[in-house]
Amino acid sequence: MTTNERIQDKALIGGQWVSAVSGRTFEVRNPSTDELIANVPEGGAADVALAIDAAAKALPAWRALPGLERSKFLRKLYELMIRDADHLARLMTLELGKPYAESRGEVVYAAGFIEWSAEEAKRIYGETVPSFVPDKRISVIKQSIGITAAITPWNFPAAMITRKMGPALAAGCTMIAKPASKTPLTALALGELIIEAGIPAGVVAIIPGKAREMSEALLSDGRVRALSFTGSTEVGKELIALSAKHVTKLGLELGGHAPFLVFDDANLDLAVAGAMGSKFRNAGQTCICANRIYVQAGIHDRFVEALAAKTAQLKVGDGFAEGVVIGPLVDDRAVLKVEEHVADAVAHGATVAVGGHRLAAGDGHADRFYAPTVISGIQPGMKIMMEETFGPVAPIIRFETEEDAIRMANDTPYGLAAYVFTRDASRLVRVTEALEYGIIGANDGLPSTPQVPFGGFKESGLGREGGKWGLDEYLETKYISYGIERSPTAG
Ligand code: NAP
Repeated sequence: MTTNERIQDKALIGGQWVSAVSGRTFEVRNPSTDELIANVPEGGAADVALAIDAAAKALPAWRALPGLERSKFLRKLYELMIRDADHLARLMTLELGKPYAESRGEVVYAAGFIEWSAEEAKRIYGETVPSFVPDKRISVIKQSIGITAAITPWNFPAAMITRKMGPALAAGCTMIAKPASKTPLTALALGELIIEAGIPAGVVAIIPGKAREMSEALLSDGRVRALSFTGSTEVGKELIALSAKHVTKLGLELGGHAPFLVFDDANLDLAVAGAMGSKFRNAGQTCICANRIYVQAGIHDRFVEALAAKTAQLKVGDGFAEGVVIGPLVDDRAVLKVEEHVADAVAHGATVAVGGHRLAAGDGHADRFYAPTVISGIQPGMKIMMEETFGPVAPIIRFETEEDAIRMANDTPYGLAAYVFTRDASRLVRVTEALEYGIIGANDGLPSTPQVPFGGFKESGLGREGGKWGLDEYLETKYISYGIERSPTAG
């Protein structure tokens, strides 16, 4: 064991901490040191079946509670997350390598979804619609969709769960969550707080395990009415196919390939700070991080120089070390992908301004630290332009006109987030409207916050999470037409 941290190493099903039905477990290791942190249950179809039974049993009472009562449970959960923020953040840094201050920031962000959902639980409003005839009344009500499921990625081990679970519980749904296999411990610790908050048994299940087997089990049971997935576009497409069986509602938050546009008239300092925040958060392992940085010719050289200077100052190391802002990449495959993208760009004529190599592993550390990198001279067709790099590499492409920038930015099947830096108000309107993306940072490199609709266009997903929009994923709309008899005493 690497730690004295309290670790939950069982799955949560029906309000109980249990082993997998198969008895099998899998290892969770610290990507920074490769040390074993825990063995957790390897869930499968049999565990999912138990969780669905428990969720079905818990559903009638949970959905019948007034929103105000569900709100109180969620508020309590929010308070417990804030109370335990240090513990949750330490677990996150242990299992993901994310620098501790950033992990703590994520816990607070994740708790924000629970807090927001606690408020929204009280405001699930219906509507009345005027009838066309005198003897009818029309009302539209919103009802919980029922049993739901969540499958989440490793890059935000707390926030990707709470962004789904908060609105699901607020809406009166029960939820079965499968966290990423690399980072199940933060999710299981959340499970402990769910129990402490008094949320009834069966309302939430948290089961690490075999992804494909579990998703097949979830989507082949018609009682599960919605599944929310965050992860790669490839897996999202598989889930779309599986969801056909019972026409299960899907929320999909998939991959991105964010363009970051800097025009000649941008505030250089603001644009560089925006690019630093967007690119290097979580070592570049985020779905909305700047993946293609387009810089107009007149500001290009100054931008590259300033970005490289700031990048050179980033401290890389173990997530628990003082001052570290870039941790290890999540696994060996991730480092190889970054190396491949950089080598391909250099082989095709790109220039490394800073970084561009793996760092020597320090004492007792794994070989997964990559130097924060800026590369200019990037051209269309290079690997780095076609796929998410998911690492601390900022590729820079020079452009001439606004039209060129918009065309290149939109030339991708993805449509999650895009960024624009300019001080020209008319250009800001033109460009933000022309970008085919669900999230736009307009002179803003960090647009994520709990109260907004997060989600993508095109192959980046379906539906929206967060804010008042996030609840819609967990609600059915029911229209009721009331026929009215004339009063028996009317003349
Ligand atoms: P991933 O491989 O798609 O995994 C995500 C989740 O899906 C994990 O829980 C994983 O389980 C599970 N999974 C894997 N294969 C599956 C299958 N065949 N059927 C059902 N579930 C399956 O993605 P990742 O590499 O962990 O995460 C990175 C990706 O997520 C990137 O593309 C990133 O852009 C995207 N992302 C998107 C958003 C957004 O909001 N749009 C946010 C964060 C990340 P195991 O861990 O057990 O394999």
